[in-house]
Amino acid sequence: MAADSLDQDVLRYSRQIILDGFGKDGQEKLKTARVLVIGAGGLGSPALYYLAAAGVSNIGIVDFDTITLSNLNRQILHFTEDLGKKKTDSAEKKLLNLNPGLNIEKYHDRLNIDNIEEVISNYDVIIDATDNFPVRYLISDCCYFNGKPLIEGAAVGFDGILMTIIPGQTPCYRCLYPEPPQNGVMPTCSDSGILGMVTGVIGSLQALEAVKVITGMGQTVSGRLLIFDALRSSFREVNWPKRDHCPLCGDEPKIRELVEYEIKCKVKL
Ligand SMILES: [Zn+2]
Repeated sequence: MAADSLDQDVLRYSRQIILDGFGKDGQEKLKTARVLVIGAGGLGSPALYYLAAAGVSNIGIVDFDTITLSNLNRQILHFTEDLGKKKTDSAEKKLLNLNPGLNIEKYHDRLNIDNIEEVISNYDVIIDATDNFPVRYLISDCCYFNGKPLIEGAAVGFDGILMTIIPGQTPCYRCLYPEPPQNGVMPTCSDSGILGMVTGVIGSLQALEAVKVITGMGQTVSGRLLIFDALRSSFREVNWPKRDHCPLCGDEPKIRELVEYEIKCKVKL
């Protein structure tokens, strides 16, 4: 690397390099890490911005969707001028404006049982920034089978949750939620309200968790579920132990390969 660009990097990341326990080593780890963010929406926007700003140089973005007006209260990677564009393209443009040195790989695809393994296998850490249960189970099972650390986040209404899963070391997603909800239990997906700041908080925390997994700094939220209550501006933790009879990581697992679910939301009356 040319001396000039090395100097620029030191300057760009100087405020984090001087942190105790981070240093040039931490920066180098971010530079070589490969992080996949699945979903470039409400959670993915802040997660991607902060990863890019921090110098996570190899970033994959998965999103099959295009931008609509009702996305813009929370999906801050996308601007009014981007309406109708692919979210992956819009995200890439903003992130390269912020940090031109990034390598960004775009996947304008819907992840499914046939393609997910190939996509995930290219990355060291996976951030699940999706908004529906079928893909959430697919991602968590696939990360477990492939030994990939997974940062789960979700936000609905005024509430958000966060959990970090390290396969083989921590409880898995199915230790907490063994099976997906029944058809018709979940609210109508497209009608769920959401305040942008809630996805902002959870998406930022997902990026923070990824940085901790990559650098080894601090403690992740594995083995505990972090719950954010936006109306009280408070966090609480729920203990999340490993379940002996977990269908995925338990003593006698019944799930031994990827499963694709179809879960219907509650029908709008
Ligand atoms: Zn488990």
